[in-house]
Amino acid sequence: MKTFVRCGSLFTGHEDEPRKGEALVFDDAGELLYVGTEAKAPRRAADDRLIDHSGSFVMPGLIDVHTHLAYGNAKSEEDIDLYSPMEFRALRGLFFAQKCAAAGYTAICSPGDAGQISLSIRDAIRAGLFEGPRVTAAGPYLTTHQGLTDWYPTWIGAPETSIGKLVTTLDEAIEEVRRQVKNGVDCIKIALDGIQRRPNGELIAAFTEEETDAIVRETHRLGRKAISHSVGREATLYAARAGVDLIFHGFDLDKECIAAMKKSGSVLSPTLTHPKNLIEFTQPHEPAAQKGRVEITAERYRIGVANLKKAKAAGIPFLTGTDTGFAITPYGEWHARELELFVEDLGFTPAQALRAATEANAKFMTGGDKIGVLEPGRHADFTVWEGSPLADIGILQDKNRLRAVYIGGKELSLADRPFDPRKVTDFALSNWTDLYTRERVAELRGRPRPRLQAAE
Ligand SMILES: [Zn+2]
Repeated sequence: MKTFVRCGSLFTGHEDEPRKGEALVFDDAGELLYVGTEAKAPRRAADDRLIDHSGSFVMPGLIDVHTHLAYGNAKSEEDIDLYSPMEFRALRGLFFAQKCAAAGYTAICSPGDAGQISLSIRDAIRAGLFEGPRVTAAGPYLTTHQGLTDWYPTWIGAPETSIGKLVTTLDEAIEEVRRQVKNGVDCIKIALDGIQRRPNGELIAAFTEEETDAIVRETHRLGRKAISHSVGREATLYAARAGVDLIFHGFDLDKECIAAMKKSGSVLSPTLTHPKNLIEFTQPHEPAAQKGRVEITAERYRIGVANLKKAKAAGIPFLTGTDTGFAITPYGEWHARELELFVEDLGFTPAQALRAATEANAKFMTGGDKIGVLEPGRHADFTVWEGSPLADIGILQDKNRLRAVYIGGKELSLADRPFDPRKVTDFALSNWTDLYTRERVAELRGRPRPRLQAAE
């Protein structure tokens, strides 16, 4: 039996213009057999199925290359690393992977999670045990004593349940690459930004250039892709020179970084959504606001966008990803905001943003030659929208406009299940953010309590 899908507008992912009055045809295995005009389509047999989306906009399923399935909408790094067993995190991650799919994301890359959580979610979905997106999975980030994800004091180190795997020598780094590849990861993530800065403010890379080269070389030798977290110029440069396949952030990149990326073929996922949400949504009482992170992030964002535009002008491919998994970027909520920010802040056209989130993202993913574009031979992974995201890229964030999501030709049938967020994450033990000295209490006592009085 074949399935015919009548499309009002069809955006294939392979060209900027939508096509009118075309059809998709796929087989029982969910593989596209035909994409084109209805007139030239294969003849429809009596038992073939017809789905009519002739009033809608049909496009490939969206892809987010930066969604952390194990983070659980975390409010702190300790939340991510410490407060729930790996087994719970895997179950929770599967639930949240489904939230992503229900938002129109038929594939996600989970770049850096503790243990084997992401790859277990990937395998459970792939085996048909659960509905969900296609997952490209990494293990813990490789980090050093100078790298992010090695958050805790040296007397604690990076616990087994952390998203960072602390390697203190190059031999240990190579051993960890081999161990993760044996376990079945699709990619190796390197925490390449350090925690130290030069007097001029520049971030010092966590690993040396030689170490970065060796880690990436071993990753590639074993047939896997390398990802780096590189905000700083140095970390971006080392990653680009080493041929890291996907560089996250790159906010401080310069001409030298761009030239190195052009030479090695590294691509960039700036991940604008996380900082933009942090800048716009963080409330004054939040610890992030009290630490001045909002102002610092706003300034770095401004500089970052200016630098990223230069990389775009130079022809570096951009991928869309959001750093979903934090309390500021909950699953299924903000993935498509990245496309809007590509348009508003980086000067992409809506069509370019759509192609970044489909065609370009697919090139990074495992099995990427089967997704991201609607053409014969690829999976029937597509989404159906009311209205055109080419006219308004913002509609991709409106769940009421998402009519249907198909993965491998099967329509996703997930109920929008509510959950209790307090039982899912935020198990940290902190109770107060203020310090109640006599002076502070005197100040509080001297102040009228407008909200309480209003309630009386
Ligand atoms: Zn991330």
